Amino acid sequence: TIGAYFDRAVEDFGDRDALVDRPTGRRWTYAELGAEADVLALGLLDHGIQPGDRVGIWAPNCAEWVIVQYACAKIGAVLVNLNPGYGRHEIEYVLNLAGVRMLISAESFKTSDYARMITEVDCPALEQVVLLGGDAWAELADRGRRGDPALLAKVGASLHADEPINIQFTSGTTGFPKGATLSHHNILNNGFSVGQLCRYGPEDRVCVPVPFFHCFGMVMGNLAAMTHGACVVIPAPVFNARATLEAVEAERCTSLYGVPTMFIAELADPDFAGFELSSLRTGIMSGTPCPIDVMRQVVELMGMAEVTICYGMTETSPVATQTRYDDSLERRVSTVGRAGPHVEIKVVDPRTGLTVPRGEAGEVCMRGYSVMIGYWDQPDKTADAIDAAGWMHSGDLGVMDEHGYLNITGRIKDMVIRGGENIYPREVEEFLHTHPDIVDVQVIGVPDARYGEELMAWIRLRPGAASLDAASLREFCLGELARHKIPRYVHLVDEFPMTVSGKVRKVEMREMAVELLG
Ligand code: ATP
Ligand code: MG
Repeated sequence: TIGAYFDRAVEDFGDRDALVDRPTGRRWTYAELGAEADVLALGLLDHGIQPGDRVGIWAPNCAEWVIVQYACAKIGAVLVNLNPGYGRHEIEYVLNLAGVRMLISAESFKTSDYARMITEVDCPALEQVVLLGGDAWAELADRGRRGDPALLAKVGASLHADEPINIQFTSGTTGFPKGATLSHHNILNNGFSVGQLCRYGPEDRVCVPVPFFHCFGMVMGNLAAMTHGACVVIPAPVFNARATLEAVEAERCTSLYGVPTMFIAELADPDFAGFELSSLRTGIMSGTPCPIDVMRQVVELMGMAEVTICYGMTETSPVATQTRYDDSLERRVSTVGRAGPHVEIKVVDPRTGLTVPRGEAGEVCMRGYSVMIGYWDQPDKTADAIDAAGWMHSGDLGVMDEHGYLNITGRIKDMVIRGGENIYPREVEEFLHTHPDIVDVQVIGVPDARYGEELMAWIRLRPGAASLDAASLREFCLGELARHKIPRYVHLVDEFPMTVSGKVRKVEMREMAVELLG
């Protein structure tokens, strides 16, 4: 179990740094973190929280988040990760779906008044709200300090590694967020494996500017570090390029995480050249494809010679494939690596379910220890996603090369079939990106009486650029793209509909497009 592994880390790495919270300047050794997690775990037990109960955590990144993570793991309480970007409607939906008994929450952050939103939520199962730093939080610690450590050992010994320990919601890119139910075994092993591929050891200091509520921060960050005795450094409550660079320099971090846009923002900091980043050795870039020059700069200017790329999904704990520290730059840009240890990957024809030959596109499926238990309280959705042989159907399109390297080419739901021909919007988007007046572009399929579907490009123009219509776009594409891939419609926008975690919602765009076309 996570608790047992954590206890061992506390014993093995006692006086080494485990956690640094830059915004408050506080730091914990493994021994100190272990002691604080024990106190909170005992407090929760004394309060009546039992193994299997759901405890929600709703806060931006902070040290308490990590302490709550380990305290819950020790007593088998299922941690429910809540996105700090949720509004009242979303928090009510997920609290009810997961049947959260206790919610541990920040009071507020920026424009979000969590404390007020919680009072407006209708959730019958929710018995208690504990605001971080508030009276109830202090009371939990008081109870915990009076608690009996023997009780903790007894509860810990009764837990099983295959039981649920975490519910993480998917980003909601293709619909309502689904709650992936993950076991100790799922996420502990995935964190360990990621840490191993990053070659972590007790000397490593991992800078985590990505959110803890998502598996990127919680598993690939916290659990990967803990299982190898490394230290987690929190640069800021939410991503901030300057704070991240300062944290790497001040804490001599050896590893840095981010989605590509975070690295782009750090490299673009006007004082970038003044930061001393020579401690950096590795890191992880994930979530979306990475442009080659960004990767080159991360390697050459940030010194992250061993940076790796990961691909996966919340439902697979999350990492399914990862590049190796010694893969070529070319591979790290054009692929998402190979199947991780003890994970199987296959690419199938979505219609027949048969494995396609190497080099051909199909749906990516994964099988192994990291596949979730199922979607919380949604057996139909679970049955749709995981087949009888245990394969998780990702809904992503990919191509595997002869050496087992995978390339993600889009999502099945986004694929357009026009006059019987499959079109992958990402390919069209990539070409349109080369247009000098286009800042950003998203391509979707819209219903068409003649061809079944037609392409529509949603375009954000460079400020000050002359307008762009379908005819001039066609002119630009002719001779470069096959005719059936040239968008029939152009729609100019200032922004795209996005999920709270920053992914474009094409489902919504398609609905809006149908209205636009009348
Ligand atoms: P939902 O399932 O609710 O529609 P989501 O799939 O975006 O949302 P996540 O589990 O956060 O929710 O994201 C997993 C998805 O992110 C993958 O299925 C894939 O489409 C995309 N992804 C993850 N890593 C990469 C990567 N390295 N390259 C390209 N795409 C990636
Ligand atoms: Mg998904």
